[in-house]
Amino acid sequence: MCGIIGCVGREDETLDVLVHGLSKLEYRGYDSAGVALSGDRVDVCKKSGKIADLRGALESREIGGAAGIGHTRWSTHGPPTDANAHPHLDCTGDVAVVHNGIIENYQSLRDELVSAGHSFQSDTDTEVVPHLIEDALADGADHEAAVREAIAQLEGSYAVAVVLSGDDTIYAARNDSPLVLGLGEDAYYLASDVPAFRDHTDQVIYLADGEFATLHADGWHVSDVDGDEVEKTVDTVEWDPEETGKSGYDHFMLKEIHEQPRAIRQCLRGRVDELTGSVDIGDLGDLSPTGVQFVACGTSYHAALYGAQLLRDAGIPAQTFLASEYATAPPPIGDALVVGVTQSGETADTLSALREARKRGARTMTVTNTVGSTAARECDHALYIRAGPEIGVAASKTFASQLTALNLFSLGTTRTSDSREIIGALRDLPSNIQAILDESNAEAVAETYVDSGAYFFIGRGLQYPVALEGALKMKEITYKHAEGFAAGELKHGPLALVTDDTPVFAVVTGDGEMARKTIGNVKEVEARDAPVVAVTDGQSDVERYADAVLEVPETHPQAAAMLANVQLQLVSYHVADKLGRSIDKPRNLAKSVTVE
Ligand code: GLU
Repeated sequence: MCGIIGCVGREDETLDVLVHGLSKLEYRGYDSAGVALSGDRVDVCKKSGKIADLRGALESREIGGAAGIGHTRWSTHGPPTDANAHPHLDCTGDVAVVHNGIIENYQSLRDELVSAGHSFQSDTDTEVVPHLIEDALADGADHEAAVREAIAQLEGSYAVAVVLSGDDTIYAARNDSPLVLGLGEDAYYLASDVPAFRDHTDQVIYLADGEFATLHADGWHVSDVDGDEVEKTVDTVEWDPEETGKSGYDHFMLKEIHEQPRAIRQCLRGRVDELTGSVDIGDLGDLSPTGVQFVACGTSYHAALYGAQLLRDAGIPAQTFLASEYATAPPPIGDALVVGVTQSGETADTLSALREARKRGARTMTVTNTVGSTAARECDHALYIRAGPEIGVAASKTFASQLTALNLFSLGTTRTSDSREIIGALRDLPSNIQAILDESNAEAVAETYVDSGAYFFIGRGLQYPVALEGALKMKEITYKHAEGFAAGELKHGPLALVTDDTPVFAVVTGDGEMARKTIGNVKEVEARDAPVVAVTDGQSDVERYADAVLEVPETHPQAAAMLANVQLQLVSYHVADKLGRSIDKPRNLAKSVTVE
């Protein structure tokens, strides 16, 4: 999920090119970094922490070689330690591998390799790759054939780059994780994203899934899984080097909104079986909670409200508390589980609530994006949302991934008769979100209402947390007044604020009782001349009362909330953009809130 750089043909400069490339990938977020260079032997240097730590470690080392690979790691399997940092080696030390992504079948591969006598140095999924290559080499395969053989055994998402001792070639392959080649004057580059080598060349070749590349000082070659040559087009990158980290998007937040299909796919990867309707959320063990208390802040609190409702719908008593108010919460009942939802795993309020829960004798679990974070280390269990690093301060893709992970948690700990339908709807989320991203009229809606005095958001049931999140996003990035309400609450006070200058975004999906009631609330708003923007799947007649409509595809009610959220993210983004706000770094806000 994080960054790869590779370089051949720069002779003595290889190491500098790699470290410079890694520093250009820093914007993606990472927790460790490392390099490997191949000459007569393979030299590796790797460190947890920042690129500066890696530079420090390199100072005391004599490292050189004609072909080199480098990596910034964003841990998914094993905490961010020196040993878990990439590159990873085989038993002989002749094969070095860097990898972005998740190898789903690593456990069975690792078990087989261990029983065949291989010894592992890390907790990562990645380390199976050099050992598989080692086995193929021992069976007589040449370097390329050995790498291909290893890759063929992998399931999951990967961008992989390999160097071997005595070989000035880089071997690389991808599946569902980006890799791009850079063609320089007398040198060739490889990276997960163009900024890593943009200072050296603007000529690039984007690899497709299933393709295999070899880079050598004399040239490059791309082939398919069968080894047949693939004709590739060379593109010229026109972006300003400073902007390349955003892959052509104006802001990281917009890029991350567009990354949601991929983030959700990563979250689901290897964890759901649609045929049997079963869910495997890894080594959480048999949690079987008799009740669940969620603690969280901000966007994560909205995710927790949604998660608690899923559990209640499935028959498990569940409550949600703002982490900063947990001291006043009733003690967890019986064998209750306390779940802290925190993107960074470092949110001080949530950590302190989780500590309080432990003092009260509860088991704890965190739902987090950050392997090895304080929350992950201190809790009894951790469920990783696998969204990849998020740079924009206002959460977007991490919220989508939290909701996805909470669906998995609910399916994995409860019995529901429609689990197959829910899994099907979760699987459809990436394509449904993509359809919204491709066709949304959110920008036009933003244009219409950019000068409004305030924005209100209403929803019921699972749409209530989405209404709250819609309002929070609007506040965070536009600095304008926005509030989210349970639709039924409007008439108990907030209706006094509603005027023709306060658009009301009503989230109405499905055509059941909930939708009918929310439509009743929409009529109350309409009667007071407020513009109504309906976010709807078209199953009800809410459009009749709306001034504008943001459409979402029809799906299972549990997934509908997540689709509606994407439309609201886009509206807030475009309003903020039209107002010229600092979208990625809104005033007064920080990504990881480490104070109480
Ligand atoms: N799954 C690998 C690990 O945890 C790679 C993570 C990444 O993409 O940086 O080491």
